[in-house]
Amino acid sequence: MKTFVTDEHQKQAVLALKTLVSHESVLNENEAGPGQPFGPKVVAALDEVLKLCASLGFKTFKDDEGYYGYAEVGEGEQLFGLLCHMDVVPAADQAGWQTDPFELIERDGLLIGRGTQDDKGPTMAALFAVKALMDAGVAFEGRIRFIFGTDEETLWRCLEKYNEKEESITMGFAPDAEFPLIYAEKGLLQAHLIGPGTTEFSLRAGGALNVVPDRASYASNQLSKVQQALDAHGFSYEKLENGLLVHGKSVHAKDAPEGINAVSRLAIALSDVFDFPPLSFLGKLVGENATGENVVGKTEDEASGELSMNFAELVITEEATKIGLDMRIPVTVNKDELVKKLSHKAAQYQLEYKEFDWLAPLYVPLESELVSTLLSTYRDCTNDMTEPMVSGGATFARTMKNCVAFGAMFPDSPDYMHQANEQWSVAELRKTMEIYAEAIYRLWGK
Ligand SMILES: [Zn+2]
Repeated sequence: MKTFVTDEHQKQAVLALKTLVSHESVLNENEAGPGQPFGPKVVAALDEVLKLCASLGFKTFKDDEGYYGYAEVGEGEQLFGLLCHMDVVPAADQAGWQTDPFELIERDGLLIGRGTQDDKGPTMAALFAVKALMDAGVAFEGRIRFIFGTDEETLWRCLEKYNEKEESITMGFAPDAEFPLIYAEKGLLQAHLIGPGTTEFSLRAGGALNVVPDRASYASNQLSKVQQALDAHGFSYEKLENGLLVHGKSVHAKDAPEGINAVSRLAIALSDVFDFPPLSFLGKLVGENATGENVVGKTEDEASGELSMNFAELVITEEATKIGLDMRIPVTVNKDELVKKLSHKAAQYQLEYKEFDWLAPLYVPLESELVSTLLSTYRDCTNDMTEPMVSGGATFARTMKNCVAFGAMFPDSPDYMHQANEQWSVAELRKTMEIYAEAIYRLWGK
Protein backbone atom coordinates (compact mmCIF):
# COMPACT_ATOMS: atom_id res chain seq x y z
CA MET A 1 0.00 0.00 0.00
CA LYS A 2 1.27 3.48 -0.85
CA THR A 3 1.54 6.00 1.93
CA PHE A 4 0.14 9.34 0.93
CA VAL A 5 -0.19 11.08 4.28
CA THR A 6 2.91 12.71 5.75
CA ASP A 7 3.66 14.22 9.17
CA GLU A 8 3.26 17.61 7.54
CA HIS A 9 -0.32 16.79 6.47
CA GLN A 10 -1.10 15.68 9.99
CA LYS A 11 0.36 18.90 11.40
CA GLN A 12 -1.66 20.99 8.96
CA ALA A 13 -4.85 19.12 9.84
CA VAL A 14 -4.38 19.80 13.55
CA LEU A 15 -3.66 23.47 12.87
CA ALA A 16 -6.77 23.81 10.75
CA LEU A 17 -8.83 22.02 13.40
CA LYS A 18 -7.57 24.52 15.96
CA THR A 19 -8.95 27.39 13.92
CA LEU A 20 -12.30 25.68 13.35
CA VAL A 21 -12.77 24.73 17.02
CA SER A 22 -12.33 28.41 17.97
CA HIS A 23 -15.66 29.13 16.24
CA GLU A 24 -18.56 28.54 18.61
CA SER A 25 -20.74 27.38 15.73
CA VAL A 26 -23.84 26.55 17.75
CA LEU A 27 -27.31 27.12 16.26
CA ASN A 28 -28.65 30.51 17.33
CA GLU A 29 -31.82 31.44 15.52
CA ASN A 30 -32.30 34.55 17.66
CA GLU A 31 -29.37 36.06 15.80
CA ALA A 32 -30.40 34.73 12.39
CA GLY A 33 -30.48 37.21 9.51
CA PRO A 34 -30.11 37.38 5.73
CA GLY A 35 -27.38 34.96 4.63
CA GLN A 36 -27.09 33.48 8.12
CA PRO A 37 -30.17 31.36 8.85
CA PHE A 38 -28.54 29.66 11.85
CA GLY A 39 -26.79 32.72 13.29
CA PRO A 40 -23.51 34.53 12.55
CA LYS A 41 -21.22 32.10 14.37
CA VAL A 42 -22.29 29.11 12.28
CA VAL A 43 -21.70 31.07 9.08
CA ALA A 44 -18.30 32.21 10.38
CA ALA A 45 -17.23 28.57 10.71
CA LEU A 46 -18.50 27.87 7.19
CA ASP A 47 -16.57 30.88 5.83
CA GLU A 48 -13.47 29.70 7.69
CA VAL A 49 -13.52 26.21 6.22
CA LEU A 50 -14.16 27.54 2.69
CA LYS A 51 -11.24 29.95 3.06
CA LEU A 52 -9.05 27.06 4.18
CA CYS A 53 -10.14 24.90 1.23
CA ALA A 54 -9.43 27.74 -1.21
CA SER A 55 -5.91 28.05 0.22
CA LEU A 56 -5.39 24.32 -0.42
CA GLY A 57 -6.31 24.66 -4.08
CA PHE A 58 -10.03 23.79 -4.03
CA LYS A 59 -12.68 25.72 -5.92
CA THR A 60 -15.21 26.92 -3.37
CA PHE A 61 -18.84 27.91 -3.43
CA LYS A 62 -21.07 29.36 -0.75
CA ASP A 63 -24.86 29.22 -0.87
CA ASP A 64 -26.16 32.80 -1.12
CA GLU A 65 -28.71 32.04 1.59
CA GLY A 66 -25.96 30.74 3.87
CA TYR A 67 -27.25 27.21 4.35
CA TYR A 68 -24.22 25.30 3.04
CA GLY A 69 -21.01 25.58 1.08
CA TYR A 70 -18.80 23.26 -0.88
CA ALA A 71 -15.21 22.87 -2.04
CA GLU A 72 -14.27 20.96 -5.13
CA VAL A 73 -11.19 19.56 -6.85
CA GLY A 74 -10.79 17.61 -10.10
CA GLU A 75 -12.60 17.61 -13.44
CA GLY A 76 -15.31 15.57 -15.10
CA GLU A 77 -18.95 14.59 -14.93
CA GLN A 78 -18.82 12.22 -11.99
CA LEU A 79 -18.92 13.59 -8.47
CA PHE A 80 -17.59 12.01 -5.28
CA GLY A 81 -19.17 13.64 -2.22
CA LEU A 82 -17.94 14.02 1.34
CA LEU A 83 -20.78 15.07 3.60
CA CYS A 84 -19.49 17.03 6.59
CA HIS A 85 -20.90 19.59 9.00
CA MET A 86 -19.55 22.72 10.63
CA ASP A 87 -22.17 23.18 13.36
CA VAL A 88 -21.64 21.76 16.83
CA VAL A 89 -23.82 21.07 19.86
CA PRO A 90 -23.69 23.66 22.68
CA ALA A 91 -21.09 23.47 25.43
CA ALA A 92 -21.90 26.66 27.32
CA ASP A 93 -24.25 25.12 29.88
CA GLN A 94 -22.53 21.76 29.90
CA ALA A 95 -20.97 20.95 33.28
CA GLY A 96 -17.67 19.12 33.51
CA TRP A 97 -15.54 20.89 30.91
CA GLN A 98 -12.01 21.16 32.27
CA THR A 99 -10.84 23.47 29.49
CA ASP A 100 -12.39 26.14 27.29
CA PRO A 101 -14.51 24.08 24.84
CA PHE A 102 -13.77 26.54 22.05
CA GLU A 103 -10.01 26.52 22.33
CA LEU A 104 -8.30 23.42 20.97
CA ILE A 105 -5.98 21.97 23.61
CA GLU A 106 -3.33 19.46 22.59
CA ARG A 107 -2.24 17.42 25.57
CA ASP A 108 -0.79 13.90 25.95
CA GLY A 109 -1.60 13.01 22.37
CA LEU A 110 -5.20 14.17 22.71
CA LEU A 111 -7.02 16.98 20.94
CA ILE A 112 -9.59 18.45 23.32
CA GLY A 113 -12.39 20.81 22.31
CA ARG A 114 -15.94 20.93 20.99
CA GLY A 115 -16.12 19.44 17.52
CA THR A 116 -12.93 17.35 17.67
CA GLN A 117 -14.95 14.14 17.21
CA ASP A 118 -18.16 15.58 15.81
CA ASP A 119 -17.53 16.67 13.15
CA LYS A 120 -14.74 19.19 12.63
CA GLY A 121 -11.99 16.67 13.44
CA PRO A 122 -13.12 13.96 10.99
CA THR A 123 -13.79 16.68 8.40
CA MET A 124 -10.20 17.87 8.63
CA ALA A 125 -8.97 14.26 8.45
CA ALA A 126 -10.88 13.83 5.19
CA LEU A 127 -9.82 17.20 3.78
CA PHE A 128 -6.11 16.68 4.40
CA ALA A 129 -6.38 13.08 3.16
CA VAL A 130 -7.50 14.48 -0.20
CA LYS A 131 -4.76 17.14 0.03
CA ALA A 132 -2.26 14.31 0.53
CA LEU A 133 -3.51 12.64 -2.66
CA MET A 134 -3.24 15.95 -4.53
CA ASP A 135 0.32 16.43 -3.26
CA ALA A 136 1.20 12.89 -4.37
CA GLY A 137 0.10 13.82 -7.89
CA VAL A 138 -2.91 11.46 -7.91
CA ALA A 139 -5.39 12.30 -10.66
CA PHE A 140 -9.09 11.72 -10.01
CA GLU A 141 -11.75 9.91 -12.07
CA GLY A 142 -14.05 12.90 -11.66
CA ARG A 143 -14.56 15.69 -9.18
CA ILE A 144 -14.35 15.40 -5.40
CA ARG A 145 -16.65 17.73 -3.50
CA PHE A 146 -16.65 18.44 0.23
CA ILE A 147 -20.17 19.50 1.16
CA PHE A 148 -20.33 21.48 4.38
CA GLY A 149 -23.66 21.45 6.17
CA THR A 150 -24.42 23.90 8.97
CA ASP A 151 -27.53 22.44 10.63
CA GLU A 152 -26.73 18.77 11.19
CA GLU A 153 -27.24 18.84 14.93
CA THR A 154 -30.84 19.97 14.62
CA LEU A 155 -33.04 19.85 11.53
CA TRP A 156 -30.78 19.19 8.53
CA ARG A 157 -32.24 22.24 6.73
CA CYS A 158 -28.79 22.81 5.20
CA LEU A 159 -28.64 19.63 3.14
CA GLU A 160 -32.33 19.87 2.35
CA LYS A 161 -31.48 23.19 0.67
CA TYR A 162 -28.44 21.64 -0.99
CA ASN A 163 -30.57 18.90 -2.50
CA GLU A 164 -33.06 21.47 -3.77
CA LYS A 165 -30.44 23.61 -5.46
CA GLU A 166 -27.35 21.55 -6.29
CA GLU A 167 -26.29 18.52 -8.27
CA SER A 168 -26.39 15.14 -6.60
CA ILE A 169 -23.33 13.00 -6.03
CA THR A 170 -22.33 9.83 -7.86
CA MET A 171 -21.18 8.25 -4.62
CA GLY A 172 -19.63 9.31 -1.36
CA PHE A 173 -19.46 9.05 2.38
CA ALA A 174 -20.12 11.00 5.54
CA PRO A 175 -17.17 11.05 7.95
CA ASP A 176 -19.52 11.48 10.91
CA ALA A 177 -20.08 8.15 12.66
CA GLU A 178 -18.09 4.97 13.10
CA PHE A 179 -15.70 2.56 11.41
CA PRO A 180 -15.89 0.19 9.72
CA LEU A 181 -19.03 1.72 8.19
CA ILE A 182 -22.80 2.01 8.42
CA TYR A 183 -24.41 0.76 5.22
CA ALA A 184 -28.02 0.63 6.38
CA GLU A 185 -29.97 3.12 8.46
CA LYS A 186 -33.58 2.33 9.21
CA GLY A 187 -36.41 4.58 8.06
CA LEU A 188 -37.38 6.96 10.84
CA LEU A 189 -41.05 7.72 11.26
CA GLN A 190 -42.58 9.80 14.03
CA ALA A 191 -46.33 10.12 14.33
CA HIS A 192 -49.27 10.91 16.58
CA LEU A 193 -52.45 8.94 17.10
CA ILE A 194 -55.31 11.28 17.89
CA GLY A 195 -58.63 10.32 19.44
CA PRO A 196 -61.51 11.53 21.59
CA GLY A 197 -61.15 12.70 25.20
CA THR A 198 -62.85 11.49 28.38
CA THR A 199 -64.15 12.98 31.62
CA GLU A 200 -63.36 9.83 33.62
CA PHE A 201 -59.66 10.55 34.17
CA SER A 202 -56.79 12.55 32.73
CA LEU A 203 -53.03 12.38 32.36
CA ARG A 204 -49.99 13.81 30.66
CA ALA A 205 -47.03 11.45 30.43
CA GLY A 206 -43.84 11.14 28.42
CA GLY A 207 -42.53 13.67 25.94
CA ALA A 208 -39.56 13.50 23.55
CA LEU A 209 -40.40 10.92 20.90
CA ASN A 210 -36.84 9.67 20.43
CA VAL A 211 -36.38 8.31 23.95
CA VAL A 212 -38.12 5.58 25.89
CA PRO A 213 -39.75 7.42 28.81
CA ASP A 214 -38.40 6.36 32.20
CA ARG A 215 -41.16 8.04 34.22
CA ALA A 216 -44.90 8.52 33.93
CA SER A 217 -46.99 10.19 36.60
CA TYR A 218 -50.67 9.84 37.36
CA ALA A 219 -52.70 12.01 39.74
CA SER A 220 -56.30 11.61 38.63
CA ASN A 221 -59.29 9.44 39.56
CA GLN A 222 -59.24 5.93 41.08
CA LEU A 223 -55.70 6.28 42.42
CA SER A 224 -55.87 3.30 44.76
CA LYS A 225 -57.24 1.01 42.04
CA VAL A 226 -54.51 2.11 39.68
CA GLN A 227 -51.96 1.42 42.40
CA GLN A 228 -53.40 -2.09 42.90
CA ALA A 229 -53.12 -2.71 39.18
CA LEU A 230 -49.47 -1.62 39.17
CA ASP A 231 -48.85 -4.01 42.09
CA ALA A 232 -50.64 -6.83 40.30
CA HIS A 233 -48.35 -6.41 37.29
CA GLY A 234 -45.28 -6.12 39.50
CA PHE A 235 -44.36 -2.72 38.01
CA SER A 236 -41.99 -0.41 39.88
CA TYR A 237 -43.43 2.94 41.02
CA GLU A 238 -43.34 5.40 43.89
CA LYS A 239 -46.11 7.20 45.73
CA LEU A 240 -46.09 10.95 45.45
CA GLU A 241 -47.93 13.39 47.68
CA ASN A 242 -51.01 13.24 45.51
CA GLY A 243 -50.29 10.67 42.87
CA LEU A 244 -48.13 7.88 41.52
CA LEU A 245 -44.91 7.90 39.55
CA VAL A 246 -44.26 4.82 37.44
CA HIS A 247 -40.61 3.98 36.82
CA GLY A 248 -39.01 2.68 33.64
CA LYS A 249 -35.63 2.54 31.97
CA SER A 250 -34.72 5.12 29.39
CA VAL A 251 -32.88 4.15 26.20
CA HIS A 252 -32.74 5.71 22.73
CA ALA A 253 -35.89 5.00 20.73
CA LYS A 254 -33.87 3.00 18.19
CA ASP A 255 -33.20 0.48 20.97
CA ALA A 256 -36.74 0.60 22.36
CA PRO A 257 -37.04 -3.17 22.98
CA GLU A 258 -34.11 -2.89 25.42
CA GLY A 259 -35.76 -0.20 27.55
CA ILE A 260 -38.65 -0.21 30.01
CA ASN A 261 -41.40 2.14 28.91
CA ALA A 262 -42.99 3.85 31.92
CA VAL A 263 -45.80 5.30 29.80
CA SER A 264 -46.74 1.86 28.49
CA ARG A 265 -46.68 0.44 32.02
CA LEU A 266 -48.95 3.19 33.31
CA ALA A 267 -51.29 2.63 30.36
CA ILE A 268 -51.43 -1.10 31.12
CA ALA A 269 -52.41 -0.43 34.76
CA LEU A 270 -54.91 2.29 33.82
CA SER A 271 -56.59 0.09 31.24
CA ASP A 272 -57.30 -2.46 33.99
CA VAL A 273 -59.29 0.27 35.76
CA PHE A 274 -60.86 2.28 32.93
CA ASP A 275 -62.59 0.99 29.84
CA PHE A 276 -61.68 3.61 27.24
CA PRO A 277 -60.77 2.43 23.71
CA PRO A 278 -57.92 4.90 22.94
CA LEU A 279 -56.31 3.87 26.23
CA SER A 280 -56.91 0.17 25.52
CA PHE A 281 -54.92 0.54 22.30
CA LEU A 282 -51.81 1.16 24.36
CA GLY A 283 -52.70 -0.71 27.56
CA LYS A 284 -54.28 -3.85 26.11
CA LEU A 285 -53.18 -4.17 22.48
CA VAL A 286 -49.57 -2.90 22.59
CA GLY A 287 -48.70 -3.67 26.19
CA GLU A 288 -44.94 -3.70 26.70
CA ASN A 289 -44.18 -4.83 23.16
CA ALA A 290 -41.72 -2.41 21.51
CA THR A 291 -41.25 -4.11 18.14
CA GLY A 292 -44.68 -3.16 16.81
CA GLU A 293 -45.56 -6.85 16.51
CA ASN A 294 -48.85 -6.52 18.39
CA VAL A 295 -49.95 -3.68 16.12
CA VAL A 296 -48.64 -4.40 12.61
CA GLY A 297 -47.37 -7.98 12.90
CA LYS A 298 -43.77 -9.13 12.95
CA THR A 299 -41.78 -6.73 10.76
CA GLU A 300 -38.13 -7.35 9.96
CA ASP A 301 -35.66 -7.89 7.14
CA GLU A 302 -32.35 -9.58 6.72
CA ALA A 303 -30.49 -6.37 5.94
CA SER A 304 -31.47 -4.37 9.01
CA GLY A 305 -33.34 -6.45 11.57
CA GLU A 306 -36.53 -5.69 13.43
CA LEU A 307 -38.91 -2.76 13.54
CA SER A 308 -38.85 -0.74 16.76
CA MET A 309 -41.93 1.13 17.97
CA ASN A 310 -41.59 3.48 20.90
CA PHE A 311 -44.72 4.91 22.50
CA ALA A 312 -43.20 7.99 24.03
CA GLU A 313 -46.12 10.22 24.88
CA LEU A 314 -49.65 9.78 26.19
CA VAL A 315 -51.94 12.72 26.86
CA ILE A 316 -55.60 12.22 27.76
CA THR A 317 -57.82 15.20 28.56
CA GLU A 318 -61.52 15.98 28.39
CA GLU A 319 -61.01 17.15 24.82
CA ALA A 320 -58.71 14.59 23.26
CA THR A 321 -56.30 11.68 23.43
CA LYS A 322 -52.84 12.01 21.91
CA ILE A 323 -50.32 9.20 21.64
CA GLY A 324 -46.85 10.04 20.30
CA LEU A 325 -44.69 7.34 18.75
CA ASP A 326 -41.31 6.83 17.10
CA MET A 327 -40.67 3.97 14.68
CA ARG A 328 -37.41 2.72 13.17
CA ILE A 329 -38.40 0.81 10.07
CA PRO A 330 -36.26 -1.93 8.46
CA VAL A 331 -34.69 -0.66 5.22
CA THR A 332 -36.57 -2.89 2.77
CA VAL A 333 -40.00 -2.56 4.41
CA ASN A 334 -42.54 -0.43 2.53
CA LYS A 335 -43.43 2.52 4.75
CA ASP A 336 -46.84 3.21 3.18
CA GLU A 337 -48.02 -0.35 3.73
CA LEU A 338 -46.82 -0.25 7.31
CA VAL A 339 -48.68 3.01 7.91
CA LYS A 340 -51.81 1.49 6.35
CA LYS A 341 -51.72 -1.42 8.82
CA LEU A 342 -51.05 0.89 11.74
CA SER A 343 -53.85 3.31 10.75
CA HIS A 344 -56.29 0.45 10.31
CA LYS A 345 -55.50 -0.99 13.74
CA ALA A 346 -55.58 2.42 15.42
CA ALA A 347 -58.99 3.19 13.89
CA GLN A 348 -60.43 0.17 15.71
CA TYR A 349 -59.58 2.06 18.92
CA GLN A 350 -61.00 5.40 17.73
CA LEU A 351 -57.52 6.73 16.97
CA GLU A 352 -56.47 8.54 13.83
CA TYR A 353 -52.92 8.40 12.43
CA LYS A 354 -51.13 11.71 11.82
CA GLU A 355 -47.60 11.76 10.43
CA PHE A 356 -45.16 14.10 12.18
CA ASP A 357 -41.75 13.42 10.61
CA TRP A 358 -40.28 10.97 8.11
CA LEU A 359 -36.66 10.29 7.18
CA ALA A 360 -36.29 7.74 4.41
CA PRO A 361 -33.88 4.86 5.05
CA LEU A 362 -30.33 4.45 3.80
CA TYR A 363 -29.29 1.19 2.24
CA VAL A 364 -26.26 0.53 0.07
CA PRO A 365 -25.74 -3.22 -0.35
CA LEU A 366 -22.59 -4.85 0.98
CA GLU A 367 -21.69 -6.08 -2.51
CA SER A 368 -21.76 -2.56 -4.01
CA GLU A 369 -18.50 -1.07 -5.26
CA LEU A 370 -18.70 1.68 -2.65
CA VAL A 371 -19.29 -0.48 0.43
CA SER A 372 -17.00 -3.34 -0.57
CA THR A 373 -14.14 -0.93 -1.34
CA LEU A 374 -14.53 1.11 1.84
CA LEU A 375 -14.70 -2.05 3.92
CA SER A 376 -11.67 -3.71 2.34
CA THR A 377 -9.69 -0.47 2.66
CA TYR A 378 -10.52 -0.23 6.35
CA ARG A 379 -9.56 -3.85 6.89
CA ASP A 380 -6.32 -3.56 4.96
CA CYS A 381 -5.33 -0.44 6.90
CA THR A 382 -6.23 -1.73 10.37
CA ASN A 383 -6.39 -5.55 10.29
CA ASP A 384 -9.65 -5.11 12.19
CA MET A 385 -12.35 -7.45 10.90
CA THR A 386 -15.29 -5.85 12.73
CA GLU A 387 -18.46 -6.34 10.65
CA PRO A 388 -20.06 -3.32 8.96
CA MET A 389 -23.08 -1.94 10.76
CA VAL A 390 -26.77 -1.31 10.54
CA SER A 391 -28.14 1.57 12.57
CA GLY A 392 -31.45 2.86 13.81
CA GLY A 393 -29.84 6.28 14.14
CA ALA A 394 -29.44 8.86 11.42
CA THR A 395 -26.43 10.38 9.69
CA PHE A 396 -26.17 12.85 6.82
CA ALA A 397 -25.32 9.90 4.57
CA ARG A 398 -29.03 9.18 4.16
CA THR A 399 -29.67 12.54 2.50
CA MET A 400 -28.04 11.29 -0.72
CA LYS A 401 -28.11 8.17 -2.86
CA ASN A 402 -25.14 5.79 -2.86
CA CYS A 403 -23.66 7.28 0.29
CA VAL A 404 -22.73 5.66 3.62
CA ALA A 405 -21.29 6.72 6.95
CA PHE A 406 -17.58 5.81 7.11
CA GLY A 407 -15.67 6.58 10.35
CA ALA A 408 -14.25 8.31 12.10
CA MET A 409 -14.71 6.59 15.48
CA PHE A 410 -12.94 3.26 15.78
CA PRO A 411 -14.68 0.34 17.49
CA ASP A 412 -12.60 0.94 20.63
CA SER A 413 -12.61 4.78 20.59
CA PRO A 414 -14.05 6.40 23.70
CA ASP A 415 -17.21 8.19 22.54
CA TYR A 416 -17.11 11.87 23.45
CA MET A 417 -19.61 13.10 20.87
CA HIS A 418 -21.90 15.77 22.34
CA GLN A 419 -20.19 15.38 25.73
CA ALA A 420 -18.05 17.52 28.01
CA ASN A 421 -14.29 17.38 27.31
CA GLU A 422 -14.94 16.19 23.76
CA GLN A 423 -11.63 14.83 22.48
CA TRP A 424 -9.96 12.81 19.78
CA SER A 425 -6.48 11.34 19.76
CA VAL A 426 -3.85 12.51 17.31
CA ALA A 427 -3.10 8.85 16.58
CA GLU A 428 -6.70 8.21 15.51
CA LEU A 429 -6.76 11.39 13.46
CA ARG A 430 -3.64 10.16 11.61
CA LYS A 431 -5.03 6.66 11.12
CA THR A 432 -8.28 8.12 9.82
CA MET A 433 -6.39 10.30 7.33
CA GLU A 434 -4.55 7.24 6.03
CA ILE A 435 -7.75 5.21 5.67
CA TYR A 436 -9.59 8.05 3.92
CA ALA A 437 -6.70 8.73 1.54
CA GLU A 438 -6.42 5.06 0.58
CA ALA A 439 -10.20 4.65 0.20
CA ILE A 440 -10.59 7.70 -2.04
CA TYR A 441 -7.51 6.62 -4.03
CA ARG A 442 -9.04 3.17 -4.64
CA LEU A 443 -12.50 4.50 -5.52
CA TRP A 444 -11.63 7.68 -7.34
CA GLY A 445 -7.93 7.72 -8.29
CA LYS A 446 -6.95 6.93 -11.86
ZN1 LIG B 1 -22.06 14.94 13.56
